[in-house]
Amino acid sequence: MSADAEPTADDAEDTAEVAAAAQGARDAAGHPLVVQDLRKTFGGITAVDGASFSVEEGSLTGLIGPNGAGKSTTFNCITGVHTPTSGSVTFRGNDITGMAPHQIARQGLVRTFQIARELPDMTVLENMMLAPQGQSGERLSHAILPGLRDGVVAEEEELLERAWQQLEFFEIDHLAEEYAGNLSGGQRKLLEMARALMTDPSMVLLDEPLAGVNPTLEEKLLDRIHELRERGNTFLFVEHDMDVIMDNCEHVIVMHQGRVLAEGTPEQVTSDERVVEAYLGGDV
Ligand code: ADP
Ligand code: MG
Repeated sequence: MSADAEPTADDAEDTAEVAAAAQGARDAAGHPLVVQDLRKTFGGITAVDGASFSVEEGSLTGLIGPNGAGKSTTFNCITGVHTPTSGSVTFRGNDITGMAPHQIARQGLVRTFQIARELPDMTVLENMMLAPQGQSGERLSHAILPGLRDGVVAEEEELLERAWQQLEFFEIDHLAEEYAGNLSGGQRKLLEMARALMTDPSMVLLDEPLAGVNPTLEEKLLDRIHELRERGNTFLFVEHDMDVIMDNCEHVIVMHQGRVLAEGTPEQVTSDERVVEAYLGGDV
């Protein structure tokens, strides 16, 4: 190649690199959550065994699999409840592997727990006010509640306003002064979701949000999820009811024995023989 031609070749290479970088950025932008080769062991038990997947921006993606497949542990590793044994979790291009829950929440990624974590001896509203701390995993004896009694400073006022907005959105504002311990299972799930949204996340991981919820509240919860999606939120959704997955998710990831066994549209995964064998055979 002549000296004259070299700049052109370099240019071409640069252009290719720029294009590749741009493509990478687009992929990352299109998939806010990327999980790579995630592993988590507890002593001799391997709960997650090399799971890799990504979640598309704005999607309601289902995460399914038989009991013990590693779904909750995957959520725990993504949101900092557990430190992964190995592998990586990237959120919006940032490596969040091993970060604390409150750091991850600050980046806009939160989760709800399979077993709702409200404090039964506090009112619904108090639970809401403590939610930002709750995501931090810190002790709950913080200054917010005395602050509420002693006169509300601007930041707390804003928090209070957000709490009421969420309670209204989930139609549990009439329960604000009720002790959380007196709520029904379904109302608890609504509170759990409302609490998760207190930090104004862009992505929410939902661990069986409909378990134990009656059909009326189930519909309400699903409506809210779709409404939040229309506003731009992204959801990864663990749910065992395949009808709910079929009706609500455009993409499904199937876990089995700590790994991703299959993914695709609900129709694709339910007609995948490996999935039928591993999961649906006895169930559907
Ligand atoms: P899923 O949510 O898909 O039902 P889990 O992630 O809860 O599955 O569990 C996956 C496996 O890891 C199971 O065998 C479970 O018993 C085990 N496991 C989960 N959490 C722990 C833990 N904290 N200590 C020991 N084993 C655990
Ligand atoms: Mg689970």
